[in-house]
Amino acid sequence: MHGSKHFSFGKRTRHTFKFASYIFLLAVILAAAVIYYLVTDAEFSKLKMQELENKSTSLTREITSLTALKVSLESDLLEREERIQSVSDRLGDLESLLDMDNTDTTELESRLDIAAIHSSIRVAMLTQIPSGAPVINARTSSGYGERIHPVTGIKKFHRGQDFAVNTGTRIYAPADGTVEIIRPSNQGSGNYLRLLHGYGFSSSYSHLSKFAVKKGDFIKKGDLIAYSGNSGLSSGPHLHYEVRFIGRALNPKSFLDWNVDNFDSIFENVRGIGWESLVDTIELRVSHQLQLSSQKVALSTDTLP
Ligand SMILES: [Zn+2]
Repeated sequence: MHGSKHFSFGKRTRHTFKFASYIFLLAVILAAAVIYYLVTDAEFSKLKMQELENKSTSLTREITSLTALKVSLESDLLEREERIQSVSDRLGDLESLLDMDNTDTTELESRLDIAAIHSSIRVAMLTQIPSGAPVINARTSSGYGERIHPVTGIKKFHRGQDFAVNTGTRIYAPADGTVEIIRPSNQGSGNYLRLLHGYGFSSSYSHLSKFAVKKGDFIKKGDLIAYSGNSGLSSGPHLHYEVRFIGRALNPKSFLDWNVDNFDSIFENVRGIGWESLVDTIELRVSHQLQLSSQKVALSTDTLP
């Protein structure tokens, strides 16, 4: 009984031991699995962190370069704004020179168009109608108006302006035109030349010594047309200069003084001419021309291959 009891006890103990061994083995395996999992997970996390760090570094670099780009774009924009402002300021100067009112137009493009039209009108008029002196730095010896004639001694209306210039002084066209009359003579006006200009104006030159052009020649403003002299009824070498509008003599002084700085002065000083309608006509012409030239530019770029 004791033996069997012992045996039974030993068997139970063995069983318990075996069972404990299994549990232990299972625990070891479980622990190993957990450790393996933890190690693998830590390794994976490390890799993930490395990857994130790399990503962060590259993003930081990208942010730095984008910030630099932003700064450069901002300074570029500022520079452009300053340039536009400077163009606008210069346009403002031009507008005040042209006596233009820009309060109702703020668009730079339309302001430029209007300024271009205004300056084109001035250029057209100052080129087509006599402006400035036909002789350089000459003293006026007799003006337009009532006077006693220096040779005849008779009171007579003087229809031109006399310049005290030596024989052979160069005479330049005060506007574009056509040589209408070349008349050699030793009486009255002496050697005489008349230029036909645009819009009904003409200018004439008396007492010349020599002609530099011939009848029918097309003349540009500033071209040499003749040399002054003392021919005809003259008390001494001088140039007698006249400006006419469809035959009617005008005071040349207003035209001699006329330039881009006092452009509007001619409208006040010279009466009896429909200046307003003339300006309207020229404005219509130049605005058409300006549109035509911009269309031409658009057309030529369109047809490019
Ligand atoms: Zn005279």
